[in-house]
Amino acid sequence: REAKKNHLASMIYSDLNTQKEFEYEILSDFKNALNNGQIYLMYQPKIDLKTRKPIGLEALIRWNHPTKKQIKPDQFIPSVENTNMIHEMTETVFRWSLEFQKKLNDKGIELPISINISTKNLYNKDFYNRMSKILKEYNIKPSLIELEITETILMENPEDSKLILDSFSNEGYRIAIDDFGKGYSSLDYIAQFPITTIKVDRFFTKQILINPTTQHIVKATIDLAKQLGYEVVIEGVEDVETADLMQKLGGQSAQGYLFMRPRGEDELITYLNQYRDE
Ligand code: C2E
Ligand code: CA
Ligand code: CA
Ligand code: CA
Repeated sequence: REAKKNHLASMIYSDLNTQKEFEYEILSDFKNALNNGQIYLMYQPKIDLKTRKPIGLEALIRWNHPTKKQIKPDQFIPSVENTNMIHEMTETVFRWSLEFQKKLNDKGIELPISINISTKNLYNKDFYNRMSKILKEYNIKPSLIELEITETILMENPEDSKLILDSFSNEGYRIAIDDFGKGYSSLDYIAQFPITTIKVDRFFTKQILINPTTQHIVKATIDLAKQLGYEVVIEGVEDVETADLMQKLGGQSAQGYLFMRPRGEDELITYLNQYRDE
């Protein structure tokens, strides 16, 4: 029995070890990757459910690692978040999004671009000032930038979150609650923050067609969110039936593979050009 226990312990230990090695390698590679072209952004459009036309974009980070191939954000962002490199990462994402926004504006296209914000960013006292400094380098309206923040982040420290989000909101930034419904907070709680948008988590979208309870929950959430003046975005829509039902339940906009997977800048420009001057 003791031998079995030791075996188990060593298995867990070696698992932890490989995980640690992976994290160590990731982090030492990440430093350079941010500046050598391995890391870049893809953008996924947000679609108006009534017109089925694009009304916004979300920037999503990608990493083409030379030996580990494509590493998903879920595999490296949690590690990066444990270090100070998360600040450089978010600032770089912001910069790249502003550059793309500028490129679009020059072509006569104006759609808000959303970027994802980490806990460590929000609770860093220099965050707002550093972001403002970057924004000033570009001639872009803050209303064309949306910050996506999960409800879990807000709940960690509501007082500080409110202060910093108020600064961004007063400047004119849009603020979205990402993955809404996953973190057990209520809209009543969310209402104290200067929010413009609620993004309904894919967890609900996935089961909406087959689960009547989910339909009730989503309907109630949408009704209340709209009464509070928020735009409701449905995440992860993969089929027409789901899009239609979400529209019927009152959802205003959606993202998902049905409409478009995250794509590079050139493909997006071609895509967005189809909708110009219509
Ligand atoms: P998220 O912010 O909830 O982003 C949505 C994720 O769902 C993206 O995965 C997107 O590609 C994926 N998705 C979109 N439509 C569909 C669909 O119809 N079906 C399915 N199954 N998935 C869909 P991705 O790009 O792998 O990003 C995963 C997470 O990594 C993001 O979740 C976000 O939390 C984080 N992330 C991505 N980019 C950044 C970034 O620049 N900064 C930070 N801090 N986090 C990021
Ligand atoms: Ca997001
Ligand atoms: Ca999300
Ligand atoms: Ca998510």
